[in-house]
Amino acid sequence: MKKVITCALGFTLLFSAGFSTSGMAAETVPGGPSTNGQLSYDSLVTYEDMIKMLKDIEQTSKGKVEVFTLDQYGKSEQDRSFYAAKVGTGPIKVWIQAQIHGDEKLTTRAVLDLLKTFGSSGSKDVEAILKNVTIYAIPMYNPDGSIMNTRSTTLYENGEPKLGSNGKSLTIDLNRDWAEKGFKAKESLVFYKYWADVKPDYAVDLHHQGFKTVYGTNESTTMSLGVSLAPNGPTLPSVKNYNDVTRQMQVYVYDALKDYGYMHIDRYQVGSGEKRYEIDIKGGVVSAMMLGLNYNNLNPTHHSNPAIFFETKGNTREGNLGQKSNGYLTKQNYLGLKAILEGIASGKVNSVDPNRWQEIPAYPLAGYQKDY
Ligand SMILES: [Zn+2]
Repeated sequence: MKKVITCALGFTLLFSAGFSTSGMAAETVPGGPSTNGQLSYDSLVTYEDMIKMLKDIEQTSKGKVEVFTLDQYGKSEQDRSFYAAKVGTGPIKVWIQAQIHGDEKLTTRAVLDLLKTFGSSGSKDVEAILKNVTIYAIPMYNPDGSIMNTRSTTLYENGEPKLGSNGKSLTIDLNRDWAEKGFKAKESLVFYKYWADVKPDYAVDLHHQGFKTVYGTNESTTMSLGVSLAPNGPTLPSVKNYNDVTRQMQVYVYDALKDYGYMHIDRYQVGSGEKRYEIDIKGGVVSAMMLGLNYNNLNPTHHSNPAIFFETKGNTREGNLGQKSNGYLTKQNYLGLKAILEGIASGKVNSVDPNRWQEIPAYPLAGYQKDY
């Protein structure tokens, strides 16, 4: 397999960069101070933490945030309940999912922070969003993987890992499992059924990636904005108006974040050196959403929705998330989510010029990375 630096394609490069904690002005130091590989999991949300935090959020919100399991649809391979939350009263449904890869942990915290603020703030900007939007949040799509600290999950049978013909346990990348020949893991069918019931209008998928620098600079990328079917690529231009909508969504988030001194945002690409590719994968969960996959006739109306993803720097698989940077990286996700929700709620996202997507920094394109 190709050596790539991405989450979506499965490899990361080691790095040990964090942010300066001495304020935004100092954040332009490339990479910031090293954490020397020191990683504390204390600030990361475990599955048990998440359940407790969700219950606290629901209680504090006085019912504004509804928290529930998806047990009616099923449980994980290791028989854990999936948790979801709903907040808002608006007609526009926005699906937000985090940690489909179990070692991409700060994303869960960002969703919980969003639910907490939106459930209790009462501020005018939040109320304006919640009047027009209903948020369907999945803070941890892959609890088994999160507990194992692995990107993938492991298939189980009768309480034991299922073994392949080579005697090794079978693992599945859940972000490749919404496909006609997929749905090998219980997780996939549960969330697919839930998605087909909710029928969201938009989706945002939160990930982590490895280290990269913004093209033409020595700034460490703190977040990349992406679409799993490349804008202007082989597939998306023929899918409804999503080639425009997904670019508008990315530009909206970019505009909202680009002036924070500690954030260095670019477009999501895979590869290294001079060879950078955009992904065009049809088996990804949010790709299947955009393509309106009708697996086993569970989505007979071929519902579909546009989706973008955020790729935050670092992951816990390689131990390359610095404690010092965790707060900044979580806040960056939170602010990105808040921005896109505001843009969707106000309708402002629809008046963005989609061609301004070209303004988001990117490497010269060497081609497309496909799974078909
Ligand atoms: Zn990921």
